[in-house]
Amino acid sequence: MPTGLLYQSSLDQGVQYMFEAPAVQLTQETSGRVTGAIVSTADGYKKIVASKATILATGDIAGDKEMMNYYCEPRMQRLIRSDYYPVGINTGDGQKMGMWAGGVMQDGPLPTALHPQAYSMFHGPFMFINKNGKRFFNEANWVQAKSLQMLNQPDAVAWSIFDADFGEDTADSLNYGGGMFWDSMSRTVETPFDPQMVIDVVEGEVKKGEDVLGNATAVTAWKADTLEELADKIGLDETAKANFLAEVKRYNEMCDAGEDTEFEKEAHFLYPIVKPPFYATMTGPCLLAVVGGLKVNTDLAVIDAEGNPIEGLYAIGNASGDLYAIDYPINMPGNSNGRCLTWGWLVGKTVAAL
Ligand SMILES: Cc1cc2nc3c(=O)[nH]c(=O)nc-3n(C[C@H](O)[C@H](O)[C@H](O)COP(=O)(O)OP(=O)(O)OC[C@H]3O[C@@H](n4cnc5c(N)ncnc54)[C@H](O)[C@@H]3O)c2cc1C
Repeated sequence: MPTGLLYQSSLDQGVQYMFEAPAVQLTQETSGRVTGAIVSTADGYKKIVASKATILATGDIAGDKEMMNYYCEPRMQRLIRSDYYPVGINTGDGQKMGMWAGGVMQDGPLPTALHPQAYSMFHGPFMFINKNGKRFFNEANWVQAKSLQMLNQPDAVAWSIFDADFGEDTADSLNYGGGMFWDSMSRTVETPFDPQMVIDVVEGEVKKGEDVLGNATAVTAWKADTLEELADKIGLDETAKANFLAEVKRYNEMCDAGEDTEFEKEAHFLYPIVKPPFYATMTGPCLLAVVGGLKVNTDLAVIDAEGNPIEGLYAIGNASGDLYAIDYPINMPGNSNGRCLTWGWLVGKTVAAL
């Protein structure tokens, strides 16, 4: 049973909840007006008649593989995993019910919120290599771009490579950039950055087989006195290892020259990999949510292919579409949760006034 503030205060306002009762179908008049929904309970199906309107707020489609494959870019099939919790609960039910009632999905491919958090929790703006030992993009990028670029690599996996100075280098880089998996993950605006924050994360991951609570975990970071040893530790084959060593040499030359002639990373992010011990953190992309859904108008009413609202039917949050086009702008903190709450408040005002 939820205990949150919003839940408690809504009870005080007379809101009724039915748990363990997923909606399975909308009810609709021949005119097209949606009148409520059928829900599935332990005692069988029940029909809920809406006094004013029916609002779809069932989240995203990430738990429905067929919808994912149909509505998202093909490369999303190479995602390491989905981090929505509980995994598989959001099966696009609202989108399906909305389409049965005449609604349409926003134009595809649907936007996805991605984080490079499948393995390590740190990679900063430092050099990345793929499984072939090759650098493949400008690493001083935000999480969405990093994830998309990794999806284009063999096995959707990459390693961030840096040297003993990475704590100080990270501190320096924050004068020009930053973000998740680059800065500390939990620093507040008032707290100054301390290099130890990221050093602790990486050294913790290097410590084989144990997390801070002593639980067994997979290793996601490696440390070595030489680059050759590092390449072996992360499992590069002989060809990839040779590529990797050549790439580091070339990268260090570009750092010295102050110009990334390959991927145009800004000069202030060019930190050479010269001082042992050398580190590699393993990185891979995860899906947080598919942030696209049914087409709605500015009242958040679900619309049909001609743009006409379906009477009595609204959609909010990830069940609704067209706020994002292709990309998810992570550089605006809280914009997904913020949109979901705000859409709820707005649709509440609209429906209350009906
Ligand atoms: C690990 C992680 C980190 C994130 N971090 C951030 C962040 O920092 N900032 C940010 O803005 N966003 C973040 N997000 C994204 C954000 O949490 C989601 O986009 C947002 O919560 C979606 O809200 P929603 O109301 O659309 O759907 P949800 O919160 O998923 O709610 C949908 C609800 O509908 C229920 N439901 C599904 N089907 C049915 C049905 N048939 N009948 C009845 N109920 C049904 C589900 O059980 C669920 O309770 C993160 C997501 C993840 C996974």
